[in-house]
Amino acid sequence: MSDAFFDAAGIFFDDDGGTVERLVQITRLTKSSFCERITELSGVVETMAVEPQISVRFLSKYYSERQITPDTEPIPDCVTCGACCMFAGIVPTLPGEASKLDEVWEIVLDGAEDVAVGQVIPRDPENGFCANLRTAPGEGVGCTVYSDRPFVCRDFDAGSDRCHAYRRMLGLEPPLSDAELETAKSKIMSRPNSDRISDVHIELGSTKVSFDLKAPEGEQYKEKRTVQIFARMYDETIEELHSFDPAEEAWFENELEGMTLDEARAIIEQRKAGQ
Ligand code: SF4
Ligand code: SF4
Repeated sequence: MSDAFFDAAGIFFDDDGGTVERLVQITRLTKSSFCERITELSGVVETMAVEPQISVRFLSKYYSERQITPDTEPIPDCVTCGACCMFAGIVPTLPGEASKLDEVWEIVLDGAEDVAVGQVIPRDPENGFCANLRTAPGEGVGCTVYSDRPFVCRDFDAGSDRCHAYRRMLGLEPPLSDAELETAKSKIMSRPNSDRISDVHIELGSTKVSFDLKAPEGEQYKEKRTVQIFARMYDETIEELHSFDPAEEAWFENELEGMTLDEARAIIEQRKAGQ
């Protein structure tokens, strides 16, 4: 397993542009070493999972929010569960959120280690769970950063198709019967997928140098590097989604998967507007 190439403690900026007093432990990983680490940890956590009948990727909210869960199904109790925090391998954070956490993993581009393209919540090296998940036998589970948990955790819908899929993986709910599985698959596949993003990749874009006459001697040249996000669609076409300055924005690949181009572009506009 490749390890992080260095650790650092950093000061972040808060939402209003002020500095945050407390330090955040940042572990920087190149994209390739991060992918290796996540693959290895997924292998660890999967040893305690029941194999999903439908890939949870196809149960993300952009494919199927509650397409296969009957309306009559009660919403499960998170305090006795924690399955999503165990099995969701990549939990991205926004720059303003990362400053409120004790530790984040920062992902940088291979060959351009000064270019950070995303921050994620660390995984526990022993069991592969979210490092912020605490389990107390007989008392339930809890999140140590609950009030500051990232947007993806806030956005996750207890009672959604994906929630029930994670619970089945943990053995908290019985598997779907053959008839239920057939119905679920046909509902999911009836959704048009060709206009959806299959996967996303982030690449180093252009480098621009600007010249500022008012800056002190020796600091007049400023280098600005841009990063581009490309989407591969289910019909194999490639679409450019966005170019950004990594000093101002951070993205991670899995944030846009499963969306239509319009949905992805709307999310990008919201993030740029700070919403
Ligand atoms: S899988 Fe569902 S019930 Fe379990 S903790 Fe997550 S949201 Fe709550
Ligand atoms: S940050 Fe908290 S809510 Fe989010 S995955 Fe980790 S334990 Fe769960």
